[in-house]
Amino acid sequence: MDLEFDRQHIWHPYTSTLSPLTCYPVVSAKGVHLHLEDGTTLVDGMSSWWSTIHGYNHPALTHAAKDQLDKMSHVMFGGLTHQPAIELSKKLLAMAPNNLEQVFLADSGSVAVEVSLKMALQYWHSKGERRSKFVSLRHGYHGDTFAAMSVTDPDNSMHSLYKGFLPEHLFVDSPSSVFGGEWDPSDIDPLKALLAERNSDIAAIILEPIVQGAGGMRFYHPNYLKEVRALCDRYSILLICDEIATGFGRTGKLFAVEHADIKPDILCVGKALTGGYMTLSATLTSKQVADIVCGGEAGCFMHGPTFMGNPLACAVACASLELIESGQWQSQVRDIEQFLKQKMPALLECEYVHDIRVLGAIGVIEATHPVAMESIQAFFVKQGVWVRPFGKLIYIMPPYISSESDLRLLIEAIEKAVSNKQHFVIN
Ligand SMILES: *Cc1c(COP(=O)(O)O)cnc(C)c1O
Repeated sequence: MDLEFDRQHIWHPYTSTLSPLTCYPVVSAKGVHLHLEDGTTLVDGMSSWWSTIHGYNHPALTHAAKDQLDKMSHVMFGGLTHQPAIELSKKLLAMAPNNLEQVFLADSGSVAVEVSLKMALQYWHSKGERRSKFVSLRHGYHGDTFAAMSVTDPDNSMHSLYKGFLPEHLFVDSPSSVFGGEWDPSDIDPLKALLAERNSDIAAIILEPIVQGAGGMRFYHPNYLKEVRALCDRYSILLICDEIATGFGRTGKLFAVEHADIKPDILCVGKALTGGYMTLSATLTSKQVADIVCGGEAGCFMHGPTFMGNPLACAVACASLELIESGQWQSQVRDIEQFLKQKMPALLECEYVHDIRVLGAIGVIEATHPVAMESIQAFFVKQGVWVRPFGKLIYIMPPYISSESDLRLLIEAIEKAVSNKQHFVIN
């Protein structure tokens, strides 16, 4: 592959043209394995950012894609409909909390978030109330487009860079009570105080239930969600749950809201929706919210992307959800969780490990110092694994099909990596 061309002309996520980091050329992938151009095989610990839950090139998903390709790859969704969209929406509604009855199919996670925020704004517009503020949590992540960024952690996402352009919303400290630990009732106080003062300006609260992903890989107490739901009910504020990372079993429940037994007014899903085959997301809401949105001045929900409900993506998503429906994910995720809970605590002995946490098929090592990306990445590749840390966080969310020996290889590689000073930026 022409890696020099790649280096000089292609932007990768969050990269600089001045000092591009090494990218590893992948030629194919199957199961948990990535095959590099030089013949190296890597065990994937990332599920390509939460998405490839059934593994790469899964026969059922590949078959669904090829089959749909022979029928039609795409058709506009305005005025036309098709079986893959109907089937997918039926499956989604059957899985999601039972108050959700309306599906909006969008192109990516960030767009699903934009759609959720627009739904909330139109909802209040229809009701004749001017509510234009959103509340979200510090350390949250909701995507890279402007509205999504505006509700993402104000420090990590460099709100200052876009100041004057980015809408200014309201943030509360994320809960300090961790998942599986003691519940500290004062965790809800900042939100309680904010809502008492500002409730009539607030359209919705948006948060990632239980697991805050890209904003810090933090797992918080389910009681927090219960309290948030109760406050939303008290002030009639909409609750948007962003399950783009957590949806479809990753935390040990089909949706993370189930840990707290609450129902959102609006739910965003993405990432694993197509089993990591292609980009597709969905925003679900209740009939009541949908009907209020559509009963307003505009007379409809004002959104409709070109590739909305792409049949190819919907067909693959149906095949992925069928695998989820088989229920096998439950024991797979449970086994991964058990293995990680058994093996990871030993890492606390390593000099550069500050904290470890495990929930479902997610394992996080928080280091004492930020990683030296180029060096640690090369080390992992040499060890035969694909793990991509950010900042002080070295984490894995492997495909559900990962075997014990795959997981062992990942943990052993991480253990070696965190024992070596060279892989950290230490001043
Ligand atoms: C990844 C992610 C998004 C954004 O999804 P994209 O497909 O990258 O636009 C939004 N919210 C959460 C919680 C995510 O993890």
